[in-house]
Amino acid sequence: MTSDIFGWTGQILRVDLDNAAISEMDTMPYARRFLGGRGIATRIYWEEVSPEIKAFDPENRLIFMSGALVATGAQGATRMSVIGKSPMTDPEGFCYGNLGGFFPSYLKKAGFDGIVVSGRSDRPVYILVEDGKARIEAADDLWGKGTYAVKEALAEKHGKTVRFVAAGPAGENKCRSAVVITDHEGSATGGFGAVMGAKNLKAIAVLGTGRPAVASREKLTEFNKHVIHMSKRGTLRMPVSKKQMEFVKTASCFQCAMECGRGLYRTPEGREEVRKCQAMVMYMPYAQRHPGQGIDISLDVTALCNNYGLCTLEIQNLLLWLEGCYHAGVVTDEQAGLEFRNIGTYEFAERLISMIALRKGFGDVLAEGIIRAGRSLGDAAEARFSEFTKAVGMDGMYAPREYTLSALLYAMEPRQPIAQLHDISHLIARWLLHRIRPHLSPTTAEVFRKAAVKFWKNQNAWDMTTFDGKAEATRYVQDRTYAKDSLGLCDFGWPIMDSFNTEDHTGDPTLENRLFSIVTGIDVDEAALNGYGERIFNLQRAILLREGWRPSEDDAPAAFNFEEPLLFDMLNPELIVPGPTDEPVSVKGNTLDRGDFEQMRRQYYEMRGWDPDTGLQKKEVFERLGMPGVYGELESQNLVKQAD
Ligand code: SF4
Repeated sequence: MTSDIFGWTGQILRVDLDNAAISEMDTMPYARRFLGGRGIATRIYWEEVSPEIKAFDPENRLIFMSGALVATGAQGATRMSVIGKSPMTDPEGFCYGNLGGFFPSYLKKAGFDGIVVSGRSDRPVYILVEDGKARIEAADDLWGKGTYAVKEALAEKHGKTVRFVAAGPAGENKCRSAVVITDHEGSATGGFGAVMGAKNLKAIAVLGTGRPAVASREKLTEFNKHVIHMSKRGTLRMPVSKKQMEFVKTASCFQCAMECGRGLYRTPEGREEVRKCQAMVMYMPYAQRHPGQGIDISLDVTALCNNYGLCTLEIQNLLLWLEGCYHAGVVTDEQAGLEFRNIGTYEFAERLISMIALRKGFGDVLAEGIIRAGRSLGDAAEARFSEFTKAVGMDGMYAPREYTLSALLYAMEPRQPIAQLHDISHLIARWLLHRIRPHLSPTTAEVFRKAAVKFWKNQNAWDMTTFDGKAEATRYVQDRTYAKDSLGLCDFGWPIMDSFNTEDHTGDPTLENRLFSIVTGIDVDEAALNGYGERIFNLQRAILLREGWRPSEDDAPAAFNFEEPLLFDMLNPELIVPGPTDEPVSVKGNTLDRGDFEQMRRQYYEMRGWDPDTGLQKKEVFERLGMPGVYGELESQNLVKQAD
């Protein structure tokens, strides 16, 4: 690691599987403008993945990039972005995933900020990275194995300290919703497990014993104490009865001591599993249909997905859609090779998941992903798509007709922007928690309001029943999240918007920039850090436009938000949101007004410095952000607003 660089290791590994060539490139020319993680990966994608390249072409890049703060000891700095041309989006296009746990930190401990994989090996391989060196190893004995067996095999070969990312059998078989799985039950969606499979890349294993230098280790130790203290604000966990599943303890990622719902859970029989969020509960509603059956089989169904390397969100969406198709007579037991009356049992899930991952029978249709499968089955099947159906993620979660601040966040991204949505949903969840159990959350209506002003920079942003102030708030959420993803900070820990341990119970939006300065020695304030986010966001916008994004149609949330009244949210059964006063407002039956949305979008384009009529970026934006080359390429394709 280069001694005069703090935070970054200074090296990115390149592995070309076409000719087994391994090389290194300097991180810093990228880091100066794009920080790391999502920022650097997006820039490399811009430079190297042209629109004609398909997801499964050898020319596609698979870019794993950790952030500037990862492995430094900074709290909640554990994550990496996974970026490439996605087989899961429809049509195939730029997409991103994100994973945490231990692999990103150990990659940096091994001396690399990230890995760019290109080409295709002519036989199964894995990449082994070990303290500044890398080599390509045969993976014939790993091919066909589930990810739990891969973990054991790698530990046997390289010792128990080995960390990894891998593709399961679903990735090998190029199932479009195959994820990249990492140890500690983490994964990145976007179909990048299938891209690994297309490259004949089974895994990347890493052994690292170093650590990145920090500008002031002493200051970081003190600051970490402050961050941990501030992070006490009420743990958000999925609502599960204690009789059915007991939370044992937090299952932390590398060196993280922030308050977090990522937990070790114990079943009534004493089995223990690490789970978090949607992946924990995906099968519970179905399991509950069978009297006498424990809902803990949901843990096992998640393990099935993880072992085969399939996206749990996609499987949850598929279950909803397939069952609808079955009841409408669009799909039959015989056609599917399934017994739909058994949905909710472990056996049903095992059969469904294995037939998709191995592309057996009807599973071959489903392995194309829900959107393409629906299309191939015809109009009646497509008509059964639900409000949750989305190529990557779920449209119905934290949907704009429930929280108006979600509208532009959904509208501007090629997938469900979950890290941005967490900015809103975590604060609302703690506001809801305070209402029923005040001792478990500090977030009163007043705290919510003050936090919204501090973090969303508009005094009307907290009222989720109107569009007032949402264009401005959107810009702040986006810029901060892009910067956060580029530093490797976790969206379960960051930002700290509310706290039991501050006088007014609000958090501090300057913590991230102060942390960055302590680690790297580069002085930035909140606005400057958000400025990096703005640059990366505009670069992603340029990529989307280059790949055929049409602002007038694509800059919008899903149509159901405008057409179908809101009736249900499992996480907010009363459908209440913060309104104009301290009293909560029910948004049951709500739809979005298209005219109001379009007016807000126009206001947002103007705030971004884009053309308000077309949503195209202007030359001044690229000049201000120091990306003249990006402007030049877009201009040559008539994808920027020409000067009047
Ligand atoms: S906040 Fe939770 S999920 Fe995030 S890095 Fe820390 S332990 Fe992991």
